[in-house]
Amino acid sequence: MRQSQLFTKTRKDAPKGEVSKNADLLIRGGFIHKEMAGVYAYLPLGLRVVEKIKQIIREEMNNIGGQEIIMTALQRKELWEMTDRWDDANVDVWFKAMLKSGTEVGFGWSHEEPITDMMKHYLNSYRDLPIYVYQFQTKLRNELRAKSGIMRGREFVMKDMYSYTANTEMHEKFYAGVIDAYHRVFERIGLGDRTFLTFASGGSFTQFSHEFQTLTDVGEDTIYLHRTKKLAINQEVLTPEVMSQLGVSREDLEEVRAVEVGNIFNFGEVKSKQLGLFYRDEQGNEKPVILGSYGIGITRLMGTIVEILADEKGLVWPESIAPHKVHLIELSAKDDAARQTVKKAAEEYYAKLLARGIEVLYDDRADRSAGEKFADSDLIGIPWRVVVSEKTLAQKIIEVKKRAEKEARLSTFEHFIEEL
Ligand code: ATP
Ligand code: MG
Repeated sequence: MRQSQLFTKTRKDAPKGEVSKNADLLIRGGFIHKEMAGVYAYLPLGLRVVEKIKQIIREEMNNIGGQEIIMTALQRKELWEMTDRWDDANVDVWFKAMLKSGTEVGFGWSHEEPITDMMKHYLNSYRDLPIYVYQFQTKLRNELRAKSGIMRGREFVMKDMYSYTANTEMHEKFYAGVIDAYHRVFERIGLGDRTFLTFASGGSFTQFSHEFQTLTDVGEDTIYLHRTKKLAINQEVLTPEVMSQLGVSREDLEEVRAVEVGNIFNFGEVKSKQLGLFYRDEQGNEKPVILGSYGIGITRLMGTIVEILADEKGLVWPESIAPHKVHLIELSAKDDAARQTVKKAAEEYYAKLLARGIEVLYDDRADRSAGEKFADSDLIGIPWRVVVSEKTLAQKIIEVKKRAEKEARLSTFEHFIEEL
């Protein structure tokens, strides 16, 4: 991508009224656009990050047998009435609207009900089970607080997976597999060492549900962390019984701030019974299907990474989710001839990187000073910065700097490509 053609521009000023660091930096870097509080559009650079995160999760979900779908944003009231969640005081995030006919509809804040109802068309016998489906979708939630930038949106991208299994054993096996898959996701995204499986209260059929909590001071949750056991307990479940069951004592638990980046939940047979999703077992008996639900907040993850890794100069992306791998910067020279030489070399490097399948943002802008280009590069946060200038060209080298490191070094272009 040529930066001269990127329609977004970086901004020096913080947007008015934006109190969160993640949104502030992402807006200034041209990754997102704020439409209103808690509602953000994703621009070319931002969308690339979202898509990278999605792809990692997609690979891990496919790997455990997930099949990708997209459900609808508009939902039927009657389904949510069947499970008592249409007028439930605990579901205080509904956006609702009315069709011209007068029929009330809801905007999807979650999808257990419609997916479970849909499964009645595809699932009859034990032979049809298990089924694991997932989607990436923009959820709509009328959140009360929307002060955490993209970490708490009124519109946000979620990955939600649903498992339909025949019995507890099958369910538990998959549930454990999801925990492993989630650990791999957070590892690949660069949050592995600070994301912990957290025990939370579970509802009526299981004692626990599980959250994945990432340590950060801007998190809205307080959790109790056992560092050596690599597990945590949510504030609500921190009872003597739970601690003894998990084999931990209060003195070993550290009270820390964290953000919930994912959670997994067992609905047991309850929803299937309410919505009428049954299968016939080998003996021909009708049995309710067991439902599990598994979320990850895609855009919340993106905001969390910004909060954790950004420095005073701007964003810092891990390579696995960076919008581009290399930021190639062509520095303007004083006289025309030198400028042409630099341009020619930079164009050649750009073409070579692309030919190797390496994603490059190429700062080919002629009207920017070196200072402006470096400041933009630091703000945008691409992992590798490569500078081509009159000075480096004279020595047949390039200047390479990693965004997360202080010192630049000199290298030949060929050697740099090898390194990548
Ligand atoms: P929270 O307690 O933070 O409100 P939740 O319990 O409502 O989260 P779920 O309904 O289980 O969360 O949603 C699954 C995942 O979606 C969460 O783990 C979180 O990562 C993400 N998520 C939930 N609400 C939001 C939001 N308003 N903005 C961005 N991501 C969200
Ligand atoms: Mg919530």
